[in-house]
Amino acid sequence: MEKQKIAIVGGGIAGLTFALSLKSQHYDCHIFEKKDSFGEVGAAISVFPNALCVMDELGLYSDILKTAGELKKILIKTSNGTTLGYSEPKGEYPVICIHRADLHGVLLKHTKAEMYENHGVKSIEETNDNKLRLIFENGKSELFDAVIGADGIHSEIRKYVINDGSPIFRGYNIWRGVVKTNFDIGHGSETMGKGQRVGIVPIKEGVYGWWATCNEDFMQDDEPEGTQIKLKRLFGDWHHPIPSLIEDTEVILKNSLSDRIPTKGWSKNNVILIGDAAHPTTPNLGQGGCTAIEGAYLLAKCIDKYGLTDKAYKRYEELHFDRAKQINHESLRLGKIGQLTNPLAIYLRNLLFYITPSRISVKLLSKYFNRRVTKIEV
Ligand SMILES: Cc1cc2nc3c(=O)[nH]c(=O)nc-3n(C[C@H](O)[C@H](O)[C@H](O)COP(=O)(O)OP(=O)(O)OC[C@H]3O[C@@H](n4cnc5c(N)ncnc54)[C@H](O)[C@@H]3O)c2cc1C
Repeated sequence: MEKQKIAIVGGGIAGLTFALSLKSQHYDCHIFEKKDSFGEVGAAISVFPNALCVMDELGLYSDILKTAGELKKILIKTSNGTTLGYSEPKGEYPVICIHRADLHGVLLKHTKAEMYENHGVKSIEETNDNKLRLIFENGKSELFDAVIGADGIHSEIRKYVINDGSPIFRGYNIWRGVVKTNFDIGHGSETMGKGQRVGIVPIKEGVYGWWATCNEDFMQDDEPEGTQIKLKRLFGDWHHPIPSLIEDTEVILKNSLSDRIPTKGWSKNNVILIGDAAHPTTPNLGQGGCTAIEGAYLLAKCIDKYGLTDKAYKRYEELHFDRAKQINHESLRLGKIGQLTNPLAIYLRNLLFYITPSRISVKLLSKYFNRRVTKIEV
């Protein structure tokens, strides 16, 4: 039997995980990436047990652990360093932090699909014989039996499937960096101020990832002040080691934080959305990439079982939509709490963190981290 051709648009976490998870021999996968190389930005990513179980199933878990740090304890602090609360995740899998390029590197190393750089997809056309023609920005075009839209929050493929406009900016921007230090903090932390926050995650051997947020306009420019001077103004008097981590970081990335209203209908005519293209979320739960991994795995399992059929696509959505929606809502809510500016509201928030026992915070959060898609009967 001739193999069916699947195009995966986007070589990010979702696209690569889908390609790795699809086990049926009936398909040839081709991954198309818009950028001129398959790679990731210089920032850290937290990977929780709900995604690590997939990596374990795919045989990548030990490779990933080699370059990752474990988040054994997460402290919630105020800007002067007072600890308001903490949580200590415990379970079958750890919570880890890893450089994005390292995670991506492991996924890439094991991917057997055909890979094409400089192949940004411009549009999709349906043909009379039930195929899909992808038109690329480089002028080429090619026919496929199915298209997986894994092209992130600004997805072109989502325009074809749902067409619900631009993502929604949520009122704050984020700076991120990775830095090598000569000290050991020993834990992760999230520090909350007034409309500003800083997170620190240990990667490995003195390397830390950090992020800092501030309520600002969409894509607000740091110039003419300059990013380092601005961050010093915003966070220079926050507790150790925040000022030195920021000051010692050579490359600082900045993004505006956006998501979309969770919307059903992730597939149309053999074109199916996964990852941020389907369910983008703000990063306040550290779950966007993890749910992208869950969803990519589930879709692959549904296709393995039901083929390139509506039944497969509907089953994937049935298993994953409510979950992704819940994470989207909870992340948005945590972002609002974290970015509060009203002094009374901040006082009450801090008090709540202070009086909530650690075991309760772990219990509240564990429902997001304890899902095991590898145990779901599709
Ligand atoms: C500041 C920040 C911090 C975060 N922290 C965490 C965290 O700690 N833990 C976590 O789990 N998640 C985190 N996330 C979320 C996570 O980064 C995303 O959910 C995840 O990257 C989604 O993966 P994806 O493959 O769906 O999309 P992407 O990672 O966006 O990959 C999409 C790929 O498609 C390519 N592409 C785009 N358009 C086209 C096109 N037209 N044709 C071809 N290719 C195209 C892009 O170049 C890219 O390579 C964070 C997000 C942000 C913004």
